[in-house]
Amino acid sequence: TELPADPSEINEPRQVKQACYSYVLPKKPSNPSLIHASVDVANAIGLSDEALLSRDFLNVFSGNSIYPETKPYALCYAGHQFGNWAGQLGDGRAINLTEVIHENKEYTLQLKGAGPTPYSRTADGFAVLRSSVREYLCAEAMHYLGVPTTRSLSLMLSGDQVLRDVLYNGNPAYEKGAIVCRVAPSFIRFGSFELFASQKDYVNLKLLADFTIKNHFPHIKEEGVEKYLAFFKEVTQTTLKMIVEWQRVGFVHGVMNTDNMSIHGITIDYGPYGWLEDYNPSWTPNTTDNQHKRYRFGNQPEIALWNLYQLANALYPLINDAKPLEAILEAYSTNYEKEYLTMMQNKLGFQIKKEQDIVVIQSLTLLLERVETDMTIFFRNLSNVTKADSAATAFDLIKDAFYNEKDLDETILADWYTWFENYSIRINEEIVSDSERNEQMNTVNPKYVLRNYMAQLCIDEADKGDYSLLKELYEMLKNPYDEQPNVQKWFAKRPDWARDKVGCSM
Ligand code: AMP
Ligand code: MG
Ligand code: MG
Repeated sequence: TELPADPSEINEPRQVKQACYSYVLPKKPSNPSLIHASVDVANAIGLSDEALLSRDFLNVFSGNSIYPETKPYALCYAGHQFGNWAGQLGDGRAINLTEVIHENKEYTLQLKGAGPTPYSRTADGFAVLRSSVREYLCAEAMHYLGVPTTRSLSLMLSGDQVLRDVLYNGNPAYEKGAIVCRVAPSFIRFGSFELFASQKDYVNLKLLADFTIKNHFPHIKEEGVEKYLAFFKEVTQTTLKMIVEWQRVGFVHGVMNTDNMSIHGITIDYGPYGWLEDYNPSWTPNTTDNQHKRYRFGNQPEIALWNLYQLANALYPLINDAKPLEAILEAYSTNYEKEYLTMMQNKLGFQIKKEQDIVVIQSLTLLLERVETDMTIFFRNLSNVTKADSAATAFDLIKDAFYNEKDLDETILADWYTWFENYSIRINEEIVSDSERNEQMNTVNPKYVLRNYMAQLCIDEADKGDYSLLKELYEMLKNPYDEQPNVQKWFAKRPDWARDKVGCSM
């Protein structure tokens, strides 16, 4: 069918029944311009380097024109937000342009911030430059860290002003509008299934499950009930792996609502996320979650499980037997403990895996919490400790990680020395040489992460039209495990002015 010329005709906010998507049209931006594009992602979807500079690229990925013979759509989904049922949500400011198959891989291309959809509810469907820079950079940084994630293809300015409730001198503030193109196998979420289950629309629930499995989990050969169980089991496993990776690099998502949980076990929706600077399991970057801190760093594994319970509930009508679902959910906790232990053993350079390593790890995380200690710097510098080092020498190697030397009173120093004595015994049991261990540790302990203040500095400059820092950070974050002497200055603790400065969500 022909799409109407005026997008407002089809983008009207509404409750949508018996459908998991609605056709929509992006809003034409008044003066689109390209800020940055990922050559890597472009190549992956079959675009050449040159294509990124073309007018067609600018037009399609700013929403200015629709690629021939495609029909953009917004997904309808529901979800639990902060533990409460929120009903229908849907892509309020995301528009799926089309799917692309390249080299046997399928990608969905999605614009974020390209205008209202039937799911915009009371909001405007747009995105501001600051949140778009944060999403664009962080998704790519996560990818290069080896954390499953959506990718970023492009970051554009729309040329339009967007009103946000940040007030300057009591006046409403306009900010630059921006559009990110995100790329993922699909944007189907836990909440996509919760939508139909909540409406008791089991016909469409089954259609969606069958479609998802056929298109995105074609290796599942089981039939009937077993098919849905195999699907659920795989989502459980990939979600678990994603969370272990978050804990490895110190990433805090900040809004782990079920509508922000991908069925592919990839990180999706970069809003008020943040990176642990001082190791503090109670920390969340999300200021709206400051009271209960539901989505704090240390709670992410539990919340993922809670979300998986919601997905299990949603799939239950297709399975009609709670037992096998419960068995899969129960396995999550034991498997998580195992995978977390292996991940931490790798961070500590233990190639021989010993059961007692749990003790070394628990005493370490307790120590890291005692006084403000930078997680990234601690683990990166730990790889320089050698088998022959005394506790005092080893401690000196990681000393840079402490935010305030004054915190290091006698009792904490004594505890650190004890820990390093145990660490020394442990690494002396390893067969590999110091340099081999150093190399292995440097593949799991990143040197460069997108610290919150770095994203902020980059946004401040971008807002003034200067994208040089954005480019510098983008290039640096492509090789987060490499020594990069020219950007060594970013291997540093958060400066004091940036204390308690947190992310932004809109
Ligand atoms: P989030 O917390 O970012 O996952 O968003 C929750 C819901 O609000 C989703 O349905 C979003 O699509 C919607 N939403 C967030 N921001 C906007 C916006 N500026 N315009 C329209 N919908 C939005
Ligand atoms: Mg979302
Ligand atoms: Mg969001």
